[in-house]
Amino acid sequence: MDGDITLQQRYEAVGRRIETACRAAGRPPDQVTLLAVSKTFPAGRVLDLAGCGQRRFGENYLQEALAKISECAIQRPDWRLEWHFIGPIQSNKTRPIAEHFDWVHGIDRERVARRLAEQRPPHLAPLQVCIQVNIGAEDTKSGCDPAQASELAHRVAGLPGLRLRGLMAIPRPETDPGAQQAQFARVRELFEQLQAEGLALDTLSMGMSDDLEAAIAQGATIVRVGSALFGRRAPGTADSSI
Ligand SMILES: *Cc1c(COP(=O)(O)O)cnc(C)c1O
Repeated sequence: MDGDITLQQRYEAVGRRIETACRAAGRPPDQVTLLAVSKTFPAGRVLDLAGCGQRRFGENYLQEALAKISECAIQRPDWRLEWHFIGPIQSNKTRPIAEHFDWVHGIDRERVARRLAEQRPPHLAPLQVCIQVNIGAEDTKSGCDPAQASELAHRVAGLPGLRLRGLMAIPRPETDPGAQQAQFARVRELFEQLQAEGLALDTLSMGMSDDLEAAIAQGATIVRVGSALFGRRAPGTADSSI
């Protein structure tokens, strides 16, 4: 099918972009993990990409994600897909996130982290979490103030049921490459500061379809890529809605 050839080609092209960016940065390509952001696309597309070899998927909208997670598990239980919640989190909606996801990237306040920790079922592995920092994105409310990241990180690191892995950021889009790199560099500096404070962090979740090269140059270990894999999302599926 044409659609599948296109998806396979896009998947390979994104893989090549990651490899090229790693080489340019003098980093081994296996240091960067591709998270396929499947929001707004149906379970069938997720399974198509999983058929190309991809196993890690990111979702923003809880209800949509839960339906997709269960459909994929029913269709291909053998694939054991890994699900990352990357959207804004409402504190009254933490339970299904704690129960159905492997990772959460958008921790930006202690209350949400505590609820996820309490609600993580004990028979599951700890929920892998990143703290989202609000770098330069003055118009969005997601992410903690960088000045508060250290205190939040130390608190989250002490919670049972969670494993703090690192930081996540969605910088303001910039046309100037220097300004774009500077934002990613600030996230990396904060990450290194937290490591120097004794936190065992290994994950920098930053970089999307349009800026993954700049993010990899500044140390990204997870790039979250949607449209470069699945194509443009339909208009009206605003990234900010839940
Ligand atoms: C939608 C989204 C992405 C993917 O964006 P693309 O530009 O389509 O690659 C990555 N991260 C987050 C948090 C998103 O909401």
